[in-house]
Amino acid sequence: MSKKEAFIGSIDQGTTSTRFIIYDHSCKAISSHQTEFSQIFPQAGWVEHNPMEILESVRLCMAKAIDKATADGHNVDSGLTAIGVTNQRETTVVWSKSTGLPLYNAIVWMDVRTSAICRRLEEQFPGGRTHFVETCGLPISTYFSATKFLWMLENVEAVKKAVDSGDALFGTIDCWLIWNLTGGSGGIDPSKNSVVGLHVTDVSNAARTMLMNLKTLDWDKPTLEELGIPIEVLPKIVSNSEIIGNVANGWPTAGVPISGCLGDQHAAMMGQACRKGEAKSTYGTGAFILLNTGEEIIKSNHGLLSTVAYKLGPNAPMNYALEGSIAIAGAAVQWLRDSLGIIKSAPEVEDLAKKVDNSGGVYFVPAFNGLFAPWWKDDARGVLVGITRFTHKSHIAWAVLESICFQVNDVLDSMHKDSKEKAGKDVEFLLRVDGGASANNLMMQIQADLLGSPVLRPSDIETTALGAAYAAGLAVGVWTEDEIFSTEKRKEKAVTFHPKLQEEQRKKKSESWCKAVARSFDLASLSL
Ligand code: ADP
Repeated sequence: MSKKEAFIGSIDQGTTSTRFIIYDHSCKAISSHQTEFSQIFPQAGWVEHNPMEILESVRLCMAKAIDKATADGHNVDSGLTAIGVTNQRETTVVWSKSTGLPLYNAIVWMDVRTSAICRRLEEQFPGGRTHFVETCGLPISTYFSATKFLWMLENVEAVKKAVDSGDALFGTIDCWLIWNLTGGSGGIDPSKNSVVGLHVTDVSNAARTMLMNLKTLDWDKPTLEELGIPIEVLPKIVSNSEIIGNVANGWPTAGVPISGCLGDQHAAMMGQACRKGEAKSTYGTGAFILLNTGEEIIKSNHGLLSTVAYKLGPNAPMNYALEGSIAIAGAAVQWLRDSLGIIKSAPEVEDLAKKVDNSGGVYFVPAFNGLFAPWWKDDARGVLVGITRFTHKSHIAWAVLESICFQVNDVLDSMHKDSKEKAGKDVEFLLRVDGGASANNLMMQIQADLLGSPVLRPSDIETTALGAAYAAGLAVGVWTEDEIFSTEKRKEKAVTFHPKLQEEQRKKKSESWCKAVARSFDLASLSL
């Protein structure tokens, strides 16, 4: 196969929508299709997805993207070269091996129904909340898949029965997709297809379950025993870039090898080609900042999680990462649009904020459901402080953009502290940005100003799908690691935002932000 004929498909299965993007040999997106699917809210704090609807959304996006590419004259009919998968992390599915049907809806990452289970585990184990941190890098939290699986075991009769009888399979969304794409229960088209799905996940998704040992990159038996989870229900863990299996008949991409798989934030890191010592921040609904720490697992003393970055092949070295997650980033802009109605679309926030030169001393802390990294305060709630008769809606728009950047700054500050403690000296790193909200030039300038260091935005800010395509293409020889990580390639059409703020001003702003954050604590029980 000549490299020039290669087309790589990328399944990007996100929290609110699914996309399929086709890239050509030069990593240019030539066709894509995106579709939203149902968000199911059975009770306050509960969020579910229908796994079958997710499968159908993937099928639709594949078919439409292939049709579009063909209509535009690209020769994709003779088959894609490979497919990569990237997905919303932590969201958990349990299904029946024999029927191929889910035994319950998928419990989504942000669902907090397992808080009672988490409290129980914290009391049960001597290490409390951090009991498993040494092994998996994560604290006990509603966020991760293990507690979601425990909830199903304790509350869904069908799950319990299937686990007892050996018919249950557990997986995150990547695993559910790959099992179905590679044949499922054999039922997609029984006449032509007797292949049974491969029960496989990758290191990055496995790292978000609380069940994988970060050092051995395998399921951790003592953890499974302590939690009462049978190893038989768990998938095999593979690297992020290797041929996993071929797509079964009945799918629009039948026969194509699946050769890349990464959780969305890890895929974004790959899409940004972040090497050791490099950090990226993805600005979407929330914001997710990951620093590649190379082959070393760094334990944070400043509120961050240890996780994996990527492993580009079965025998390739593991790159680890420090991660800080922010629950509310672009969602604060949505709030301005949908709840306050002061803008009609998210991009309008930039023009509104630009009518002034600063926030006029107004600070906004979007702690709508508490604060994640590095504060970890469940009882925090949103505050808008420093308001005077002079305050205009433009100041509020500015304060909202600034609040997103301050939160990212706090995480980076923790990363700097952890890195400094490790290296014994200051460690500088350039921040690479991506995600829908990174299109906002004013916000990116504010980010560079607050950080006091440059911010680099690549020409393609949809780095998640690109990262999965990189991993898939790498495994089948469409491109090499050197090509992906080439400095020149990464600079192509990238925009750099240089800091303009004086150090003194930066310090003062940071102190004001910290005051505002402190005001947001302990507000969860304010009376109606
Ligand atoms: P997700 O993948 O989480 O759905 P996206 O990467 O698609 O998120 O980004 C969408 C988010 O970015 C929304 O929360 C939206 O409010 C915000 N957003 C989009 N464009 C802008 C903009 N120009 N300025 C600020 N926020 C924006």
